[in-house]
Amino acid sequence: MSQVYGRVALIGLGLIASSMFWAIKRGGLVGEVTGYARSEETRATARRIGLCDRVCDTLEDAVKDADLVVLCVPVGAMEAVARQMAGSLKPGATVSDVGSVKRAVIEAVGPHIPEGVHFVPAHPLAGTEHSGPESGFAELFDNRWSLIVPSGDPDAGAVADLRALWEGMGANVDVMDPDHHDLVLAVTSHTPHLIAYTMVGVADDLRRVTDSEVIKYSAAGFRDFTRIAASDPTMWRDVFLTNKDATLEILGRFTEELFALQRAIRTGDGDLLHDYFTRTRGIRRGILDAGQDVDAPNFGRSTKAK
Ligand code: NAP
Repeated sequence: MSQVYGRVALIGLGLIASSMFWAIKRGGLVGEVTGYARSEETRATARRIGLCDRVCDTLEDAVKDADLVVLCVPVGAMEAVARQMAGSLKPGATVSDVGSVKRAVIEAVGPHIPEGVHFVPAHPLAGTEHSGPESGFAELFDNRWSLIVPSGDPDAGAVADLRALWEGMGANVDVMDPDHHDLVLAVTSHTPHLIAYTMVGVADDLRRVTDSEVIKYSAAGFRDFTRIAASDPTMWRDVFLTNKDATLEILGRFTEELFALQRAIRTGDGDLLHDYFTRTRGIRRGILDAGQDVDAPNFGRSTKAK
């Protein structure tokens, strides 16, 4: 794989940025990767584990002369970062991000992008419940989708280079409209996370009644909810604050379906329940056929934390 950019700056050094760095190194995609995180502690960890070719102590230093700057901070922090770095960006550079919500990021970051700098937002559909600089690994994006979500009239060359970088990191790339992105993600990621948080919260209330039984006898279904509900609180707070409309729309539909199933249970409508579960089983089959999960016990997940 040939080099896509001379210099890339990763801003925020958590799960996504560290995975990007290791995937960039694996593919030999970039000449030099600089990195910046707001806390001294994260910068020290990055230096200790060799995360980034050069860890900078200021945001301005990290983005100076970079051909691509990728914002890898929580969605709610992006505006402040964009404002602070605007004056240090190289003319002709591209600014991108990896935020889980796109319309809000475009509105927050877009106005701070100077004339002559390209803005090409993106979102890799890959993650784990772990966070921080030591949680990343080169294979995170392999065979997963990364969506490029341009705003306005994007520069074709800037989009092509960003696509080449994500493909070089192992991802499949699609281009999507921001509002469509936010609705699709509300269905596939944001609302399921909210439901997992809720279910684990309910079980936690119950635990007070049944002592430690909820943990002791936790079966696969609940265990999987707890894995999702262990995801980073800051990131997910920001997702719900910034993808409000789409999430509320899908939650409304979810509540209607839940009431229908509740009624079927109350009235003993076994046919409805059986038909419903048959339909949903088909969706799982579709995900396996698309190569987006493996049909192994425990969903093929290692029991060892990554
Ligand atoms: P993470 O592991 O928690 O790392 C976040 C990084 O952002 C840290 O370096 C942190 O710095 C920095 N940061 C946090 N708050 C900040 C603030 N107010 N100002 C400046 N820097 C700040 O997060 P992540 O999972 O990599 O997520 C990063 C982005 O990727 C988010 O926008 C998220 O929506 C998106 N995303 C996440 C996933 C996922 O599954 N995790 C998947 C796709 C996209 P310190 O360490 O110094 O505190």
